[in-house]
Amino acid sequence: MSGFRRCRLSPRFVVFRKKALVALVVVLGCRSASAGDLTPEEQRIVTAADAAATAALPLLERAVNIQSATMNLAGVRAVGALFRPQFERIGFTTRWAEMPAEMHRAGHLIAERTGTKGKRILLIGHLDTVLEGKPFRRNGSRAEGPGTVDMKGGDVIVLAALQALHDCGALDDRRIIVVFTGDEEQAGLPIERSRADLLDAARRSDIALAFEAAVDDTATVARRGVGSWWLTVGGAGGHSSGILQEPGAGAIYEAARILDAFRRELGGEKDLSLNPSLVLGGTEVEHDAERSRGSAEGKTNVIAGRTIVEGDLRFLSDDQKTRAHAKMSEIVARHLPRTSAEVVFADEYPAMAPKPANYELLDAFDRASRDLGMGPVRALEPTKRGAGDISFVASFVACLDGIGASGEHSHRADEYADVDSISTQIKRVALLLYRLTR
Ligand SMILES: [Zn+2]
Repeated sequence: MSGFRRCRLSPRFVVFRKKALVALVVVLGCRSASAGDLTPEEQRIVTAADAAATAALPLLERAVNIQSATMNLAGVRAVGALFRPQFERIGFTTRWAEMPAEMHRAGHLIAERTGTKGKRILLIGHLDTVLEGKPFRRNGSRAEGPGTVDMKGGDVIVLAALQALHDCGALDDRRIIVVFTGDEEQAGLPIERSRADLLDAARRSDIALAFEAAVDDTATVARRGVGSWWLTVGGAGGHSSGILQEPGAGAIYEAARILDAFRRELGGEKDLSLNPSLVLGGTEVEHDAERSRGSAEGKTNVIAGRTIVEGDLRFLSDDQKTRAHAKMSEIVARHLPRTSAEVVFADEYPAMAPKPANYELLDAFDRASRDLGMGPVRALEPTKRGAGDISFVASFVACLDGIGASGEHSHRADEYADVDSISTQIKRVALLLYRLTR
C-alpha cells in the first residue's frame, strides 16, 4: 500500500486518544487508491496524459492503415516514417538504423533524448506485423485491424506517454531511448546484427520497458526463449506398391514417425513447447527457409523421397533448451533403415528469466496503477506469451514487458485492441516513467 507509506504520521500523534480516531481515518483514506495518492506534479502529468491520449487513436488508425508485415520492407519503413516526426516534435533525436541489404529487413527506428538525471530508460516497440489485412475499423470498444494490439497500439502508448511528460517539462535532462524494431515478428539473421542497435541502446540504459500486448491487468516479468529447427528426411524412392517393404518407409512416413516421437518424448515437459509449423514432402521438394514456404510434387504411385519440416521450440532457460536439442537429435538419429534424417537448430530469442529487478519494476507499475485508482497489476505466467525483443536485453537491464494495449487474436485476421486500455496504459506509463526518471 503505497499511500499508507506516504502518510507521514508522527508517532506521537496516536498517543492522544482523542486524536487516534482521526489518525485512523487519515490512514484509511490513504489506503484506498485514489488521485489523492498523486503529488500535484503527478496530477499534472495525468491531466497531460489524458490530453495526449486523444491523439493516440487517430495515430493508431494511420499506423494500422500502413500494411507492414515484416517482409514488406517499404511498409515497415513507412510506419517508421509516420512515427519519426512525432518523436522529433517532443525533443528526441531520431535515426533510421539500416540493415545490410542481404538481410532483407527494413531496419529500426531509434529516438533518443540525452540528459543527466534519473534512471536511464529504454522503451521497446515494433513496427512490423505478422499479417496484413483489412484497414483499421472501430467496432464499439474495439479497434480492429492488423497490428492494433501487436503492437502498434503499444507504440502509440509510448508516444502519448512521452508527449504528456514533454508537455509538463518532465523530460528535460532525462535519458530516454526508444527503439521500434522493424523485424520483431521475424528477426533478421544473423541475430547479432539485427539486434545490435537494440543491445547498444540497452547497454546505455538501466531499465527496459516493452509494450507488447497487455493481458488483463498483468505485466510480464519473464518470457520464454524461442529457437527454430529444420528436420530433413530422405527415403528411397520406388513404386508405391512396395512401401514399408524393400524400399522402406519413404520420407513422409518417417518424418511423421519422428514428429510423433518429438510429441511423445518432449510434449509433456513444463515450460517447454515444440511446434512443427510447415511440412513439405514428395518426390520433389523446394523449400524457401527465409520465407517459410515452399512447394512439393508427388505422384500417388511413387514413394516420397524427401520431406522437410520446420518448427519452433520454446523454453524458460538455456539449460532446458540444451536438453531439448539433445533429445531431438537423439530421436532423429534413430531413423529407420533406408531413410536418412537430420535436424539443425537456430537460436532466435533467449529466455527472459524472472529476475528480482523485474519484480521491482512490476511493483512500481502496480503502485502507479493503484495510485491512479486503476487497481492492481499482477505478474503474467511466463508460458502465456511468446518471445519478444526485450529478451535480448534481459540479461543486463531490469525488464518489464506486456504493458501495451489489451486486446486479442494477435497474429490472426480478427486481431483487435481494446480502445479503453490505450488511455489507461498511457496514464500508468506516463506516471511510471515520471517516477523512474526523478
Ligand atoms: Zn509483438
